[in-house]
Amino acid sequence: MLYQSTRDKNILVKSAEAIKLGISPDGGLFVPQEVPKLLSSNIIDLANMSYNARAVEILKLFLTDFTSDEIKECVNKAYNKEKFETENIAPIYKLTDNIYFLELWHGPTCAFKDMALQILPHLLTTSALKTGEDKEIVILVATSGDTGKAALEGFKDVKGTKIIVFYPENGVSEIQKLQMITQEGNNVNVVAVEGNFDDAQNGVKTIFTDDEYNHLLEKNNFKLSSANSINWGRLVPQIIYYFSAYGDLVKNEEIKPEEKINIVVPTGNFGNILAAYYAREMGLPINKLICASNENNVLTDFIKKGVYDRNREFKTTISPSMDILISSNLERLLFEVTGHDHIRVKQWMEELKDNGRYEIPDITKKKIKEIFWAGYCDDQATSQTIKDTEMNYSYVIDTHTAVGKHVYDQYVKETGDDTKTIIASTASPFKFNESVLSALAAPEDIQGKTEFELLEMLSQKSGSRIPKSLAELQNKVILHHKKCNKTEMKNIVSDVLDLK
Ligand SMILES: *Cc1c(COP(=O)(O)O)cnc(C)c1O
Repeated sequence: MLYQSTRDKNILVKSAEAIKLGISPDGGLFVPQEVPKLLSSNIIDLANMSYNARAVEILKLFLTDFTSDEIKECVNKAYNKEKFETENIAPIYKLTDNIYFLELWHGPTCAFKDMALQILPHLLTTSALKTGEDKEIVILVATSGDTGKAALEGFKDVKGTKIIVFYPENGVSEIQKLQMITQEGNNVNVVAVEGNFDDAQNGVKTIFTDDEYNHLLEKNNFKLSSANSINWGRLVPQIIYYFSAYGDLVKNEEIKPEEKINIVVPTGNFGNILAAYYAREMGLPINKLICASNENNVLTDFIKKGVYDRNREFKTTISPSMDILISSNLERLLFEVTGHDHIRVKQWMEELKDNGRYEIPDITKKKIKEIFWAGYCDDQATSQTIKDTEMNYSYVIDTHTAVGKHVYDQYVKETGDDTKTIIASTASPFKFNESVLSALAAPEDIQGKTEFELLEMLSQKSGSRIPKSLAELQNKVILHHKKCNKTEMKNIVSDVLDLK
């Protein structure tokens, strides 16, 4: 199977090349030329397999230039009991007869990004080897919190790679900052940027597109690569857990084989829900995909009206990992629903860049609406949902997952659809402890408490253990003190890599 660029389908590469490059040289994203299909009997067979065996079955359909040993090795290095706190890797929690949470946060950083970032480094180093790459891979990341830590944990001590993470000095939560500045590993670097996330992101983008600088890097035997969800190697591992969840529902006799389900995904960059879309295209019996946004509801408007318009106020919310106005992965969906019309997609992406807006024709809109339903909620509704869910079911969810739950409730109210539904639970409530506790306790009980007192308090309220990786932060040494302003990021990279 080959991969093509969404902006020029004549650019064709193998999966190893697509993963190594991250983004197509023409600025497009790589997608499979044809989506592989699974027979319904193959899907049902997954029910009796381990997570790792399910992962191998799905990955081998997409990574056809990898040997089965290579795939198995990548899978086993990523999903094991040293890295994940549960043997099931991505377990299902049954809330009611109709609602199941897919807990994607049992990995080392307590958010769903581990599901992909634990395996990406291995897919990437295998891809480099397969394509004859002899340079050391340098991963540059700008993070608003979750991606940076997940990438650090994924790439730490992975041979042939170095990673440099830039985070906005005052733009991440205390826990997120602690998670990053205490990061261990012989190839990791963490740098605070004086500025906001956009400053850090623009700085990284400038380095990526600086030809002269990239030439200097090559001369020093380095090659830049990216760990964000434009890389196919980050998207494909996310397809696995939707199949896995379906397998679990069949295995537990919650659904009959071939029964359709809905999937709800709290979304920012449209990555996680796009993986669910690919699962549906592959034959997973999915009725509706429900796209849940916070007040940065650019995707809700797009799915409802067919107009993508980023010209709006950026809102800072209590679900910060979804505070995004440019959903990069939507480009892949547009390519798919237009029957791979690369010329159109390229035009829309140019309009988005130039005017911050594009509009799709009715026929495309209709196609998207057949598959997707969209809604959003504000912070107040998010908090209320955390509180109600705890009160009614004694189950504590994080702020992002609460957005998903609230939008699902809206969907049921509007459609009356009682199809069994999986809600992607994207972070542990402990990771966003302050916002979660604000929904569950009185303000005076929270004020003045340290992060670790808050973790303890949440543990008592929820009746669940503090995730090991968060509890351990208390005793970790701060290893990273580097700081720079947004014009100095390139110098930091040069220093770290000791460029000549
Ligand atoms: C990144 C993230 C999201 C959004 O995922 P996308 O793939 O960008 O849609 C949702 N919840 C949490 C906790 C995240 O870290």
